[in-house]
Amino acid sequence: MLGAGTGGLSMAILLAKAGRHVTLLEKTPAVGGRLTRFRRQGVPFDTGLHFTSSLVGILGQMLTVLDSIDGIEADSFPWSLKLPDGHHLHFPNCGRDAFYDYLAQEFPRETASLRRYQELETEVLRNTPMFDLRAPIGDALTAFSELDQLTLDTLFQQLGFSPELAATLASPALFHGAPPEEVPAARHFRVSYGFEEEMIRLKSGGDALIANFTRELARLGVEVRTNTHIIAFQSFDDAGHCHAAELSDGTTLAFDDLFNSLHPAELLPLLPPERQRGFQRLCAPLQDTCGFFTVFATVDNALPCPPHLTSYLRSLDFNQILRPDRDEPFLSTGAILSHDTRMDGTPVQCLILLAPAPAPSCTAKPSPAEKEAMTQTVLTHAYEGWPELKGHLRLEAAATPHTYARFVPPGHGAYGVRMTTNAPRLMGRLPVRNFYGIGENAFAPGIVGTLLSSFLVTRQVLGEESYQKLLSAIAICEK
Ligand SMILES: Cc1cc2nc3c(=O)[nH]c(=O)nc-3n(C[C@H](O)[C@H](O)[C@H](O)COP(=O)(O)OP(=O)(O)OC[C@H]3O[C@@H](n4cnc5c(N)ncnc54)[C@H](O)[C@@H]3O)c2cc1C
Repeated sequence: MLGAGTGGLSMAILLAKAGRHVTLLEKTPAVGGRLTRFRRQGVPFDTGLHFTSSLVGILGQMLTVLDSIDGIEADSFPWSLKLPDGHHLHFPNCGRDAFYDYLAQEFPRETASLRRYQELETEVLRNTPMFDLRAPIGDALTAFSELDQLTLDTLFQQLGFSPELAATLASPALFHGAPPEEVPAARHFRVSYGFEEEMIRLKSGGDALIANFTRELARLGVEVRTNTHIIAFQSFDDAGHCHAAELSDGTTLAFDDLFNSLHPAELLPLLPPERQRGFQRLCAPLQDTCGFFTVFATVDNALPCPPHLTSYLRSLDFNQILRPDRDEPFLSTGAILSHDTRMDGTPVQCLILLAPAPAPSCTAKPSPAEKEAMTQTVLTHAYEGWPELKGHLRLEAAATPHTYARFVPPGHGAYGVRMTTNAPRLMGRLPVRNFYGIGENAFAPGIVGTLLSSFLVTRQVLGEESYQKLLSAIAICEK
């Protein structure tokens, strides 16, 4: 198993539960990947898990099967959107029907086309069997609807939405990173529906998940090797399988199958030149999502702030917002306000500002002066969106997309590969026949998409009978 983030940790648990011997390789000193939190002045801050969709449903099912749901507590996390003209939309956060009823109220002249959009989304969800782990899957890994070929932009044009409503419906693209001109409408629906249902925030961020996953790995006897990565693949057979890898610690690892949660381009240079062609074809069309410039701050208690997410837009065009390598960066600012506890036990209000910025693969590492200028720009935009914050913030840290790359190498976009109509399938079997793609690039980004890819690939690799045995935990819970 390559990489010990959500993808690698969950896949390792599933395979070990099915009786496989698993070795998990992690390049950094600790497991967790982007689930990991860090602390400044004793204040905990999240890196890549600020909020997710409801624990009721697929996420809860997956954590139950992984024996990792105990102690995971969540609060409903209201979210809102501020449009450039000042229109502030407060989504109800209590079910998809309420979400669309609210939008119909806010955009009364567009009710008919809005309802058509809702129907199309419902249809896609109904035809996406993986939203219940137990559903018969048939050929679901490949059988997608025609909305998998139609971009979100084209659908908006067909439905004749105003720029304001189009931007509102496109805004969950901030949670998968692919601009409307590229993302298939169906893929956008599969990510956005969860947030339309309910957005939640885990009480101790990714920490509780890492603790549960780590406990399960130990219980199942998974060998975890941190500070270790692959230098080169070796030992290929005539059928195109690879059976060994030379590791950075000087040892050789023999394996039957390799599960890769990294960006597939990371494997390319590890293959001997004569084996690279298939991977080259696979990687050539891949483009990364943007990264995020992040400001981490605390808000003093004189300004009580209820926990929530607000996205403040300086443009209605999500193609510009999510292509900061091509257009102006920082055209939207996400403000995540949460209540947490300092290491000394005192309560603290945390603020994380996220602004789309070019992925590390698109730009040179900014100098300290450039980073400081970016911090000031993001703060200026934040005060524009939330003037009440002025005089109440204490800046604790800032991170460019390159900063993330230091902690979660090698640093492609915030959400890995962009989901586009012509992106190749990266889930399951890769060009080396015993290599499998998992992780955010394989199905969809975010912890839900990443966990789902582990379940879908487990189903493919283990076969239906063993897979259904793993799911018995859900049946036990529901009795
Ligand atoms: C700023 C930001 C905010 C986000 N916010 C949210 C959010 O609020 N909610 C949400 O659901 N998702 C969010 N995401 C996305 C989410 O974090 C990811 O989709 C998810 O964590 C991906 O999990 P993964 O296992 O695929 O990758 P990762 O968690 O990145 O794990 C990959 C692991 O592989 C390791 N590794 C790298 N190279 C090697 C190598 N050569 N050999 C061995 N190991 C290696 C890395 O160190 C890492 O531990 C956010 C992402 C970012 C960047």
